[in-house]
Order: sequence, then C-alpha cells, then structure tokens
Amino acid sequence: MQILVAEDDSVIADGLCRVLTAQGMTVQVVDNGATADLLLQRADTPEVVVLDIGLPGLDGFEVVRRLRARGGRVPVLLLTARDAVADRVRGLETGADDYLVKPFASAELVARVRALARRHGAPPALLAMGDLTLDCATRRARVRDRVIELSVREWTVLEYLLQHGARVVSKQQIIDAILPWGDDLTLNAVEVYVSRLRLKIADAGVAIRTIRGFGYMLEPVAHDAP
Ligand code: CA
Repeated sequence: MQILVAEDDSVIADGLCRVLTAQGMTVQVVDNGATADLLLQRADTPEVVVLDIGLPGLDGFEVVRRLRARGGRVPVLLLTARDAVADRVRGLETGADDYLVKPFASAELVARVRALARRHGAPPALLAMGDLTLDCATRRARVRDRVIELSVREWTVLEYLLQHGARVVSKQQIIDAILPWGDDLTLNAVEVYVSRLRLKIADAGVAIRTIRGFGYMLEPVAHDAP
C-alpha cells in the first residue's frame, strides 16, 4: 500500500514513516504542501494521504481543496492539533475523510489508514438480503424490481445494516456510520430512520429486528410465514 505523508515536523514525519513502513506500507514523505499537491496530480497517486494541516506554502486545507477540485478521490487523513475543533470541521468540509488529533497512538494511526484504504477500495457492488438489493454504484435500492426511494441517511442506515449481514449493530455504530465525525445525532433520530425504513421495506423479505437496549439486526423473513 502506497502512503503519502505530508508533515513538516521531521520528528513526527519520521515516526509516521517508521510506523507505517513497519506495517508493510510504502511511504513517501514530503515536508510542504506544494510538493504534496504536485504528487497528487500524478497518475500513480497514493492509496491514502496523511496530511498535516499546518504545512508551509500550501496548507493542508488547500491541498485537499485542490485535490477534490480536480476530482481526485484519494482518501485523506488530516493531522490536527489538539482541541482545534474548527480545523477539523473545516478539513472535513473541504473534503478530507477523517482526522487524527496529535499526539496520537501508532495503533490508531495504522487502524485509520487501513480503514480509509478499505473504504476506498472497490466496495461490493451489490448488497442484498431477501428481496432487498442495494446497488452501491448507482445508490439505488430495490425490492425485487421496484425501486424504493430513500433519503441519504436512510440509505446509509440500510447500507450499514446490510454490510453487517445478520450481525447486531448498536445505535451508536449507526450514528457513527451516518456522521463519522461525532456530530450530534440522537439515538431517537436513529429510531426514526429505522421506523421509516421498516415501512419502505415492509415487503422485502427482510426485517430490521430491534435488539432491546442495544441496536438492530437484519434478518430474512419468509414471505408466507403464518
Ligand atoms: Ca505542521
């Protein structure tokens, strides 16, 4: 896996490089935003970018902004200073995928880089259970041949449940899937999305079962059950 690290603090950059290389990743380190911007314009773009916000020349925000403006889809993990909430919000709004607050644990860095690479890698084109099918490429949900209209959040909840097959997921996990950055969304809101989904997929041969005090799971149901 190719990783581009843009970090001007040489101690942090060395640490990042060591940790990621130890995981078998190939790491290229640059110490300014302009070089990162140039490298991201080449055809052989990295699989994940670890990007410090406070870079000389072009800052991290500008690097992400330019990347996304060109249509570049490389996942970006921003490195931010502690308590810089406004920076994180701005970074995510600009098009970064995730952030890590300095100082961070090596294990967390590795986990996040891997998660971004996974999310970016080819997702399954179709998720299905019973008569319900989600086409992740066109973002279209169907019950047999009938297309069902879902809001973005309803889609995200249903996709998350389907990705977990018949495993139980907590309401908090669903909130994190809808808003990966910890914005506030109440558990009640999740219940509302789930009840709307239940109506929309009522005849899909799939039920969203409530696991009391915890969350939900999908399970197939027989059509002609008594
Ligand atoms: Ca810096």
